[in-house]
Order: sequence, then C-alpha cells, then structure tokens
Amino acid sequence: MAVKSVRRRVGIFGGAFDPPHSGHVALAQAAVAQLRLDELRILPTGQAWHKARVLTEGHQRVAMAELAFGDVPRVILDTREVRRPGPTYTIDTLREVQREQPGAQLLLVIGADQAEALHTWQDAREIPRIAILSIAARARPVSDAPPADISRLPPGFYQPIDLPPFSVSSTEIRARVAAGQPIEGLVTPAVARYIAEHSLYQRTNVPRLDE
Ligand code: ATP
Repeated sequence: MAVKSVRRRVGIFGGAFDPPHSGHVALAQAAVAQLRLDELRILPTGQAWHKARVLTEGHQRVAMAELAFGDVPRVILDTREVRRPGPTYTIDTLREVQREQPGAQLLLVIGADQAEALHTWQDAREIPRIAILSIAARARPVSDAPPADISRLPPGFYQPIDLPPFSVSSTEIRARVAAGQPIEGLVTPAVARYIAEHSLYQRTNVPRLDE
C-alpha cells in the first residue's frame, strides 16, 4: 500500500521578545493548534535593523523566551539570530531553515502590525515564496485605527490566525517596570521574576506610562 507523504509543518515566530509577554504566548499557542504545526521555532532577534532602540542583551532575551514559551507544546527555541553577527533578516533565517529541512512547509507567524510593515523587509517579495504568511490580529494602541491593510503585503499566500486581541506590548511592560508598576498577568510569573532578579528595564530612558 502506498504511504502518502505528509509535509512537515514548521512555524517560524521571530521577535525581539524584550520581554516576551502574554500576547506572544497566546499567539504561539494559537499558531501551533490552528496551523497544525509539527514544530514552532521561536527566534529572538539579534539587534533587529528596524528597532530604533538598543535591545536587552540576547542571552537575557533568550533566557526569558525559554521561561515564557517553555510550556507551549512543540516549541523549539532557536537562537541563531541572536548569534548571527551584523544585521539580522528574517529572509536569511527562512532560507537556512529551508535548507535544513528540505520538503518542509514553512509558516511565518507574525502579528498584524509586522504584516503591514512586511513590504519594507529585506527581500519582502521572496518571503511568501518560501513561507505561508500566518497573521494574527493585534489590538491597536488607538482604538479607531483602521484594521490591518493586507493589500500592502507582498503578493503570495497568507492565512489568518484567530486570536482575541491582546492589547499588551513589550513597550508597555518596560514602561510599567520603569515606573514601578505591577506586570502580573502581562508576563508569566517566571519572566516577572527574571526581570526583577536581573533589574531589567529600570533605566530612566524608557517611555513613561500616562495613567
Ligand atoms: P515592542 O513593544 O518592543 O515593539 P512587541 O510587543 O511588538 O514589542 P515583538 O517582540 O516586537 O513585541 O513582537 C514579536 C511578534 O509578535 C511580532 O510579529 C508582533 O506583531 C507579534 N505580537 C506582539 N504582541 C502581540 C499581541 N499583543 N498580539 C498579537 N501579536 C503580537
């Protein structure tokens, strides 16, 4: 009897994860379940070219990602971008994983804000040729902001990930910590402990929260 070969489904979820928060974890869980992934590679970025500020050290963001995503099934923490010298581009990672796992179906997991900016990424038009774009809604900082404009995506195949909008962002968490405000519920308890033990986000140059 002929055995039907099934393509391995490999999710790629990159982010600064500075720090990883409950929106990231919810997105990872939804992606694994809805996209029927065999593995979800979590990739903390290097000093990403599109982030204006200097990120927390890579090894600390990796440690927090381990704590945040450790209980999500099928997750693999992939540290290649943190270790890569120079600017780090998603397209390079996709090409590498494609070489490592020939025949696998790659799925790039991103929030709607990143999806809208995708046309500005390195080799943007190449990305949908390598990976299915898998896009989750993201709550808007301004409630009457328009919905994600998918017409700006490079042409190719994309699919939505169903996720109730979580308004949390890493920016908000850094600001809360700097202002001495609680972050319970916004990050996992283990990540909150790590932030406290390593005195992260205490600097005075992070944006303030107006409350
Ligand atoms: P910052 O506030 O520092 O810009 P961030 O909260 O946007 O950080 P990133 O690490 O830049 O977090 O995000 C990694 C990925 O997770 C991106 O694709 C982003 O769109 C997505 N993402 C982040 N927060 C959410 C959220 N609350 N809901 C859905 N997707 C999210």
